[in-house]
Amino acid sequence: MRKLASIQTVNAVEPIPNADAIERVRVLGWWVVVKKGEFAVGDRIVYCEIDSLLPERPEFEFLRKNCFKAAIVQGGNEVQRAGFRIKTVRLRGQVSQGICFPLAVLPPGTPTDEWADVTEALGIIKHDPPPPANMAGSVKGNFPSFIPKTDETRVQVLEAMLLRHAGKVFNVTEKLDGSSFTAFLRDGTFGICSRNLLLDESDDTHLFVQLSKRLELGATLVRLRDKYGFDPAIQGEVLGPGVQGNKYGLREAELRVFNLFDISASRLIDLDRALELLREFRLEVVPQLEPITLGHGVDDLIRLSEGVSVLNPKVQREGIVLRPTVEEFEPELGGRLSFKAINPQFLLKYDE
Ligand code: AMP
Ligand code: MN
Repeated sequence: MRKLASIQTVNAVEPIPNADAIERVRVLGWWVVVKKGEFAVGDRIVYCEIDSLLPERPEFEFLRKNCFKAAIVQGGNEVQRAGFRIKTVRLRGQVSQGICFPLAVLPPGTPTDEWADVTEALGIIKHDPPPPANMAGSVKGNFPSFIPKTDETRVQVLEAMLLRHAGKVFNVTEKLDGSSFTAFLRDGTFGICSRNLLLDESDDTHLFVQLSKRLELGATLVRLRDKYGFDPAIQGEVLGPGVQGNKYGLREAELRVFNLFDISASRLIDLDRALELLREFRLEVVPQLEPITLGHGVDDLIRLSEGVSVLNPKVQREGIVLRPTVEEFEPELGGRLSFKAINPQFLLKYDE
């Protein structure tokens, strides 16, 4: 589980060229710009990741000028409260991600062991704007438990894990900024899901339902099952008009697949085989970039994440996703070995 705010240790403090009032500190794999002299190497601190929405409390008021985010109201209901949003910024040419506080910011009695989760203690929630109207159709239930949800952990919190997998070949794909989509066929029943919900596949007001019909995904999954003898699920990113500002400037909605899952065996299909089957059934996949042999630190992978999109070279890509060629379980992630590195240039440009 992602911890938005946790107890961490300052690993390094470095000057920023041409800046005398500020410097940068290293926390986990993140660089954070702070006031000079505020923190020293070895200090135990509270670190809040980007996308933290801090509450309107006196101790955070100094953030009002740069970070205030009004409440989000939809149909008369407040769907996200107001607060101070932490996002990626650039100060004197230095990218800064997150914010650090001395332990004194915590309410008395809060546990302060390294990695302790202090998100709730500080009243922090995730900045997570609700989906737009074309993705709010009727819902049948929760995301089915027989398929893993799509998610990726940020490389900045995985420094130790990178060392353990050094020498292994990783496939690299472009991370696309759209909306997570799943379609499955199980015991003869076809279903469509958003990231967290099972949708009503007969509700045409939902973009996913329209797209699934146009791509004839129901029939495709039946053919795949009949030929290969397992109940399949495909997972991918939906892009296009009405999705995340259509950054790639597409004319109509598209699906780019990044997972092929065998529901019958409860197993992800390894990349090469998945690419073969997806190609056979004419399902488009996320852009496949050059594989790497892992020998990279966090900063190296962040550098690798920078670049333009394969879909539209006029836009910055969101980042990259790295996975081994043969699927494996990673205890630290509590799931498959797979993680993301987000392009800081993308965050600076689009993170509103
Ligand atoms: P985030 O969008 O930051 O929550 O990161 C995780 C999500 O990235 C997944 O749930 C997918 O929906 C999405 N995603 C986009 N492109 C890819 C890709 N190439 N591989 C895997 N996931 C991807
Ligand atoms: Mn996303």
